[in-house]
Amino acid sequence: MRQISQILQKKRVFLTRTLHNFALNELKKKYQIEIHSGEIPIPKTKLLKKIQNVEGLICFPYDKIDKEMIDAAKNLKVISTFSVGYDHIDTQYALKKKIRVGYTPEVLTDATADLAFSLILDILRRVSEGDRTIREGKWRQIYGAYDYVGIDLQGKTLGILGLGRIGSTLAKRAKAFDMKIIYHNRKSISKNKEKALRAKYVTLDKLITQSDIISIHVPHTKETDQLFDMKVFRKMRKTAYLINTARGKIVNEKDLTVALKKKIIAGAALDVYENEPIGKKHPLTKIQNIVLVPHIGSSTKETRAKMAKITIKNLELGINGKKPIYSVGY
Ligand code: NAP
Repeated sequence: MRQISQILQKKRVFLTRTLHNFALNELKKKYQIEIHSGEIPIPKTKLLKKIQNVEGLICFPYDKIDKEMIDAAKNLKVISTFSVGYDHIDTQYALKKKIRVGYTPEVLTDATADLAFSLILDILRRVSEGDRTIREGKWRQIYGAYDYVGIDLQGKTLGILGLGRIGSTLAKRAKAFDMKIIYHNRKSISKNKEKALRAKYVTLDKLITQSDIISIHVPHTKETDQLFDMKVFRKMRKTAYLINTARGKIVNEKDLTVALKKKIIAGAALDVYENEPIGKKHPLTKIQNIVLVPHIGSSTKETRAKMAKITIKNLELGINGKKPIYSVGY
């Protein structure tokens, strides 16, 4: 009897996808949890139904938590997302409704910067392309003067759009490879930090026209939505590469496909897409001078475990009316 009343008193938490076992076990001790299984992302109608009764929600970057969803969430105290990006959540509306929003910055900075740097190396040195060449049985002759030639990183100008946590960590890696670093933010960083990273502040236009490689690290917002379109590709150097590990909607994929096909720019490497997941029929998969990876920026064993730890801590604080460790707004 006591056990039943304890269960009934437990606050309810809904997860739109499963998490690490250690995190689920922690949650189960304190909350009545329900985990969506099956189709990912969870269908909107199902989430609308589930969100009505719970005090806590754990979600992922592809779950759209908009006004309609928040209006349905009559008891919700906290939305805890398993990501640093929170462009999928109407955070302003959530905060207006006194719902806390937790997210997971910092712990995924190194992993994401590592991936961005590995994409730079991959596309410039044609690593994935070489792998495909062998697997498709197309490697015919060894060691020709012009065979599979790539591009040196040393001395090239890396333009970092968004020199925040991930952007500056990428800059450290690029510095070690003797690259020149220019960057653009809405505000420049301190002179000391610029000196330490050997990074020079430029306008967006200069970043676009002067970079050999542009790596995107801004959040997806109204200002950055579709920022990279044909107009921008035409301004970029013909020899330049675009790397995107931020959010897919910052780049117009149709325009990128044309820009790569027509050699308006030299190549691209993407971790994120306008609509994920993309399948093998996606036009970008038909192009040689592009590297495509399936949104794995933060995906290392260590980082994902740290993200899970923070996600449940943020949930626990928010559900009890306290500020999450990493909190959007208040
Ligand atoms: P951050 O520390 O907040 O850095 C963002 C940077 O972007 C800041 O330097 C900011 O500077 C700049 N910025 C923001 N809006 C801008 C604008 N309109 N124009 C120019 N610069 C702008 O964020 P972070 O932790 O580095 O993460 C960056 C993004 O990476 C996240 O939002 C997320 O979407 C993405 N991400 C993806 C993955 C993945 O799995 N692929 C993993 C982690 C993160 P100012 O405020 O001065 O403009």
